[in-house]
Amino acid sequence: MSQNGNYDFLVLGQGLAGSLLAWRLLRRGRRVLVMDDGHRTAASLVAAGLINPLAGMRFNHSPHVRHWLEAVERIYGELEEAAGRPFLHWQPMVRLFRSPEQVRFYERKAALAENRWLFGARFPPEGSGEPVHAPHGGFFQKRTGHLDLPALLAFLSGWLEEQGALRREAVDHARLAVTPEGVRYGELEAAHLVCCEGYRGMDNPWFGHLPFAPDKGEFLVLERGPGAGDTDLPHAIVNSAHWLLPHADGRYRLGSTHDHRHLDQAPTAEGRKKLEEGMQKLLLHPDALRLHDHQAGVRPATSDRQPFLGTHPDHPRLHLFNGFGAHGSISIPWYSERMAAWLLDGEPLPENADIRRFRQ
Ligand SMILES: Cc1cc2nc3c(=O)[nH]c(=O)nc-3n(C[C@H](O)[C@H](O)[C@H](O)COP(=O)(O)OP(=O)(O)OC[C@H]3O[C@@H](n4cnc5c(N)ncnc54)[C@H](O)[C@@H]3O)c2cc1C
Repeated sequence: MSQNGNYDFLVLGQGLAGSLLAWRLLRRGRRVLVMDDGHRTAASLVAAGLINPLAGMRFNHSPHVRHWLEAVERIYGELEEAAGRPFLHWQPMVRLFRSPEQVRFYERKAALAENRWLFGARFPPEGSGEPVHAPHGGFFQKRTGHLDLPALLAFLSGWLEEQGALRREAVDHARLAVTPEGVRYGELEAAHLVCCEGYRGMDNPWFGHLPFAPDKGEFLVLERGPGAGDTDLPHAIVNSAHWLLPHADGRYRLGSTHDHRHLDQAPTAEGRKKLEEGMQKLLLHPDALRLHDHQAGVRPATSDRQPFLGTHPDHPRLHLFNGFGAHGSISIPWYSERMAAWLLDGEPLPENADIRRFRQ
């Protein structure tokens, strides 16, 4: 904690990115202040928190995926120990093929010896063992689960507050003075500023020119209806055109939509209709579930689907840690370690994430 308004790092944004980076910096003995506007636009508060190493139609994975999963265990483990409660829930995932073409992607990827730790056995049409429609069959995926993000963020808010390291305030960029020695914001002074504003990063005067590609998503929170009795509902995460997540709180999350035009947190009738239609196609007994809540948020995605890490070319005290798109829960732990190593030890950033890739 700083006694006099002087900090080593100001971190702007207390979503998962700002929180985990602050956690690392504080644990390495730095004086840190996180500023957040009360999670006004936080994707982290509405994210389902799926941990899924094989994203997308083609079952591709990042070359860093092993490091990601190691850091997931390490950092969420540290946080669980500090909080005395679990946040990370490993859960099986049943992946349903959407088309014969997708079966071919599976066959190609699953045949590689180096992929066997992620790809489980294949099952025939309607053979998943879960109460879902699976006309093309599918496979069992490994190393999947979900992170209880709202609970984790609530814990981290409280923990940061106890350290005197959190201020709830909307930061006005026009009032931030950047100097060769650091940054000033009113009475606050810091040697470095790290910007972690999620999709609002596109309004950041120093980094907003980077190719952000924000992506609004909606999902439904469902619960067993009064007449559902013991109707069979999925026990595993089911992932197809839509996904259904049996959550640690006993409810089910069903997601999600994609919209690059309407960038706000408002759930829409159109989004709900799409998701309900998806649920009808996915589940054998959709009527056993009733709506509990409908939420929306904006993913801080980027045009090349890689995060934005690095330092401003003209302002060596100004840094960016953003752009985690739809995969923050699985990737932010490792990238927060890489970012801390860059800031504190000058270790190189992963090339795929370094914002110097956009230099002309
Ligand atoms: C519907 C939906 C479903 C998702 N599902 C998953 C999933 O299943 N698995 C997964 O891994 N990821 C998922 N994601 C993505 C995940 O939410 C993000 O990757 C991650 O949460 C991004 O964290 P962040 O800290 O970068 O951004 P955010 O969580 O958006 O945090 C940014 C913070 O900065 C604050 N802020 C911004 N500007 C200012 C300012 N000027 N002053 C003060 N504070 C400011 C914001 O209010 C916010 O609190 C989903 C996202 C959405 C929207």
